Amino acid sequence: MYAKVIIDIKHEDVNRFFDYIIPQKYEDFLERGMRVLVPFGKQTRMGYVTEIITESLDATKEILEVLDVIPSINEELFSLMNYIKNHVPALYSSIFSTVIPSELAVNYTKVVEMVKPELVPDDLKPYFNKKGIWRLKRKDQVYYPRLKKLRDSKDQEIIKIKTVIKEKGTTKTDKTYTYNQNHHYKRIYHYEIVIDLFNMKKEYTRKELTDQGLTASNINTLVKNQVLFEQEKDVFREIEHQFDLSDKKVVLTDEQQNVVNQIVNSLDKQETFLLKGITGSGKTEVYLEVISKVIEQNKQVLVLVPEITLVAQMAKRLKSRFDDVAIYHSALSSGERFDQYKKIQSGKASIVLGTRSAVFLPMEDLGLVIIDEEHDDSYIQKEQVIYDAVEIALERAKHHQIPVLLGSATPSITSMYEAMNNRFTLLELTKRPLNLEIPTIQYVDMRLELEKNNTSIFSKTLLDAMKKRIEMKEQTILLFNRKGYAPFVLCRACGDVPQCPHCDISLTYYKEKKSLKCHYCGYEKPFDNTCSVCNASKVKEVGTGIEYVEQVLKKQMPKARVLRMDKNATRIKGSHEIIWNNFLNEEADILLGTQMIAKGLDFPKVTLVGVLMADLLLKVPSYKSTENAYMLLAQVTGRSGRFYPGEAIIQGYDIGHFAIKSVNQTYETFYQEALYNRKLMNYPPFKNTSQILISGESYLKTYQRAFMLKKALSSLSCDVLGPSQALITKIKDYYRFTITLKYETIEKQELFDLLEAHEFDDIKIRYFPYLDIV
Ligand code: ADP
Ligand code: ZN
Repeated sequence: MYAKVIIDIKHEDVNRFFDYIIPQKYEDFLERGMRVLVPFGKQTRMGYVTEIITESLDATKEILEVLDVIPSINEELFSLMNYIKNHVPALYSSIFSTVIPSELAVNYTKVVEMVKPELVPDDLKPYFNKKGIWRLKRKDQVYYPRLKKLRDSKDQEIIKIKTVIKEKGTTKTDKTYTYNQNHHYKRIYHYEIVIDLFNMKKEYTRKELTDQGLTASNINTLVKNQVLFEQEKDVFREIEHQFDLSDKKVVLTDEQQNVVNQIVNSLDKQETFLLKGITGSGKTEVYLEVISKVIEQNKQVLVLVPEITLVAQMAKRLKSRFDDVAIYHSALSSGERFDQYKKIQSGKASIVLGTRSAVFLPMEDLGLVIIDEEHDDSYIQKEQVIYDAVEIALERAKHHQIPVLLGSATPSITSMYEAMNNRFTLLELTKRPLNLEIPTIQYVDMRLELEKNNTSIFSKTLLDAMKKRIEMKEQTILLFNRKGYAPFVLCRACGDVPQCPHCDISLTYYKEKKSLKCHYCGYEKPFDNTCSVCNASKVKEVGTGIEYVEQVLKKQMPKARVLRMDKNATRIKGSHEIIWNNFLNEEADILLGTQMIAKGLDFPKVTLVGVLMADLLLKVPSYKSTENAYMLLAQVTGRSGRFYPGEAIIQGYDIGHFAIKSVNQTYETFYQEALYNRKLMNYPPFKNTSQILISGESYLKTYQRAFMLKKALSSLSCDVLGPSQALITKIKDYYRFTITLKYETIEKQELFDLLEAHEFDDIKIRYFPYLDIV
């Protein structure tokens, strides 16, 4: 028997299947989707088994070790990987690491530590070697067949194997392995040592005992003398959140109840619901109610939110109503993420809440997927292996034959279009249950402020409104989205803006560090106010960054207590929760932030939302910029007046644009006009669009190659636009050109072959589906 293996190395030269001989002891045990260790050249590397075959011409080496008891990649994941493979060109190994947590990609030492304990058979007595690594005493000829037999046995509902391992003298460790009848081996993982003091069934963790003042050696002595009994226990670290926000049980309104009924009536079939409900209309309450029905049927629910900052709030509301909520996102520590993954993989989570990457988590009994804020761009992974989590969720729904619930106050144009064409089922919530009106919206044209000799970034209207809030002990949210407009420095004498020597981009100014840094390649140099071009000491910051806004705010409103929330302020784990908590506890009057503040916690005391330079949002060269701008404005203004009547003030220089004006009208007004523009320009939902990036060190050669590629692409049934210079014309000394494709359907494999054929050593080609901005 042989196994086809993909080696976990991200390199084109090894982007193929390698055959390995399956040693006899693994023959019956090894399955497709399991991780293995294999000899590779002079190294030992991890690989993924993709197929078991009976004949091979080139297998010469044996698999060294099997790292899984149940496959890490189940059949559903294989089909999702296949889906990705058909949409973007990507290395096999990259696709594998996209769909499983990085914690599963292990090096050899880690493997032994992580894997051996779970592979312990009852009579093989593994031991810790000097390095604290688990070892088996003899090679296990009998072990794997036995494990396999247990896994496959249907006679007994649950078989428990108890393994008592003696090692290091007298320490006793109980390990329990549970198997159930559905062929699924369910693993119990042991993380925390729990000590049963005097056998009184009172359990302490080691940490609790050391907190009491016992040293590790004290504990060991007590264990040796059998005063303490040590037991490894199935403990998954809980993910804690800062605020205390439990869900009050509400009585659903008729509107909400209707929506719930419709979804609940379709729980056993594949159907996509688009829940369109104005901000504060109680969408989350609808989710909770539907979830409870799914759980009653012993099925699992996957809930996705677009950003990490939104996890905590949703987690609190879920946990206050349900048990067994697992949480999964990239800001967890490696250990936490591994724990949560194991909890999910072992089927112990009835609800999984996470961000984009959670869409791949193994859930055998999936009954419903909920995607909150479905319009959000963050559901698309834009780097490495590109995918859209909403599409993946729809694929999963197909696999499990279950509904997907997409929720938003402002559905994406494409989703709304699907609903209008009856491919999605539209559900609506039109009222706020607490009977509050949507905030009144006022626009301020900043050009008129200039005429009034107000050169501040704050209009008088906005300043007055903020002052009034402070007097009335109410709160303000201020949005300034500097995306793509990082602060830079400029010589006031000659106008020079320091650029990165390797990229076509101005260096970003970091005030606190007094340095200039390139966002793309990391190039950094200390800030110097002497201009390198004209030698004048006139180099100064150009204040468009949010930190500058904060300064001005503090100067113009010295009494206001201001909290800032942006990428810099939330770099430390959990800090955004602290900021939110402080704001919720009214420790500040104004929360100033980037788009991060547009969604998240409900702040009852917020009665004013201010938007600075709203038209900046439109200056992003993407067909989606209008949609994104409108949605952000609708979101953020909707945060005003959740409990008391509120208002919103939108400032800008070009406030007549329909995306800005529509905030004061209905979503439908916006949708109709946006859809018309999309049609006119052949953009989604009418045609698909993707972009090809061609980059190389020689400007001329790269440009030529781009032209040749364009010519070749014209054989496909699609519109080919370009090549044109990319938004950033040079990065890391590579010149960049783009070609844009617009098509209804396209033969993807043919396209990928063409792209591959045009790659040369000195020319790199990348393909970006979904996007039109690179
Ligand atoms: P959304 O998710 O649409 O923004 P939420 O579900 O968070 O709305 O609801 C907004 C607020 O209204 C919350 O404080 C929620 O507890 C409350 N709420 C929702 N539904 C009801 C209801 N039927 N009765 C009373 N309060 C409700
Ligand atoms: Zn650079």
